[in-house]
Amino acid sequence: MSPVSGFADTHNHQFARFAFGGRVLWGSAAAADAELGSCRPEHGPHGLFDLPGNLSRILLRTGSITSLLGHRTDGAPDFPAWPRWHDLTHQAVPRSALKRAVDGGLRLLVMPAVNNELLGRLTRGAHYHDMAAADLQLRAAKQFEAMIDAEAGGPGRGWYRIVYTPEQARRTIGEGKLAVMLSIEVDGLFGDVIGPHSTAGELEAQVDRYHAMGVRHVFPIHLKNCAYGGTALATSLHWSRNSGPVSKANPPLSLPVYRMTTVARTADGYDYRGGHCNADGLTPLGETLIRLLMERGMVIEVDHMGARSRADVLRLTGAAGYPVVAGHAELLSLAGRGERSEFLLTDAEVTAIGRQGGVVAPKLRQLSVAAPGGLRGTAATFLTAYRRVRELLPDAPIPFGTDLNGFAGMPRPRPGEVPLDYPFTSPVTGAALDRGRLGSREFDINADGVAHVGMLPDFVSLLLRHGLSEEDARPMLDSALGYVRAWERAVEAR
Ligand SMILES: [Zn+2]
Ligand SMILES: [Zn+2]
Repeated sequence: MSPVSGFADTHNHQFARFAFGGRVLWGSAAAADAELGSCRPEHGPHGLFDLPGNLSRILLRTGSITSLLGHRTDGAPDFPAWPRWHDLTHQAVPRSALKRAVDGGLRLLVMPAVNNELLGRLTRGAHYHDMAAADLQLRAAKQFEAMIDAEAGGPGRGWYRIVYTPEQARRTIGEGKLAVMLSIEVDGLFGDVIGPHSTAGELEAQVDRYHAMGVRHVFPIHLKNCAYGGTALATSLHWSRNSGPVSKANPPLSLPVYRMTTVARTADGYDYRGGHCNADGLTPLGETLIRLLMERGMVIEVDHMGARSRADVLRLTGAAGYPVVAGHAELLSLAGRGERSEFLLTDAEVTAIGRQGGVVAPKLRQLSVAAPGGLRGTAATFLTAYRRVRELLPDAPIPFGTDLNGFAGMPRPRPGEVPLDYPFTSPVTGAALDRGRLGSREFDINADGVAHVGMLPDFVSLLLRHGLSEEDARPMLDSALGYVRAWERAVEAR
């Protein structure tokens, strides 16, 4: 294969340890393997206090009802219970594993500082406010960079580089290092400082403040309706304000946490909860935010938006020829019955994003892709989504978004399928990689699935074993530079 720049992970919560009040995710991303000890101090004996983790394993279909009984807490040196593909609350981006991913061809990472205040309150954490949590994660990324630099002999020498311009990203990728873009993904961007009645000037001051802190990628909207617009009705925490309890829009097990006015849009292909979608698009302040981000060449993320908000963003950015990104996307045209929510991109949206020079990165664990029972969320379902994006956008780069440390779960192993033989050769670096290790535990993708970030090279090579041709793999293997090109277009169009 002719040289490729490496692959990109466009959604990785490396520092989510500092999100949700700091009491949900166990284990520091900066720790050496030996320092990743038992989670008992936070998760309690048998992990019984890890309610978010134990509960979400059921809600997100990564585990069974027995998850509620807790989990083994031991960590280093033999990591008997975590990290695992189905685990959501233990560090999945440990430092040594991230380095292995870089050795195997990972060259660009988008690191959204993430938060959800509800989870922070439920776990009685400190600093659970959205922007306090974001600030901690942005700072942690800079400290991590400084630590890796110090190990490598001084400032600028390490393999982990936060990049502030597309030129820096290009140079970093060319040097075989990891280019890291800082991002924010919280429910209330800029926190209580900005409300529906804030002025454009007040908003601009906040955008400038975070731009100065290094943020180059932004989620205007996350899990709830905010000052900027309407979120996607897409999880059991979403609730239709104008439909009755126990209705099509509010079925049993949905909870009135994040409320919104909805309309049924079955004619547009949606069928999740009776096809209900958020009635609200962007607010005037949301339109101002999009304009401010465009003026600064910042990358705008359209995932998590309601369909109307996304349509508004595509209209505003489309008119300016400005690219946008869907960094952990799922696709409506592939989803099973009852799964077609407005979080998922329609083919028309994918095409529009491509026309504007943007990027659609399928989420690594494609849970909405229809497949019999246990076969959901495997390498095969990722490949189905990847191929669909390739059909729709034959000339675009196609990275993936892992959502590691982000309550997503990773692709599971699928015994009986074509195995990856170890050692394998990275199609990016040519390096021979044997089974990766954390402490004394060996990880094998055939048995473990994607247990942590260090297994991304194994995952990419497994896709090649699954019949992904070199030509078809190229948009992924070269997605690091491809993503930078989209960023360059944003900077040029500003
Ligand atoms: Zn635990
Ligand atoms: Zn996320």
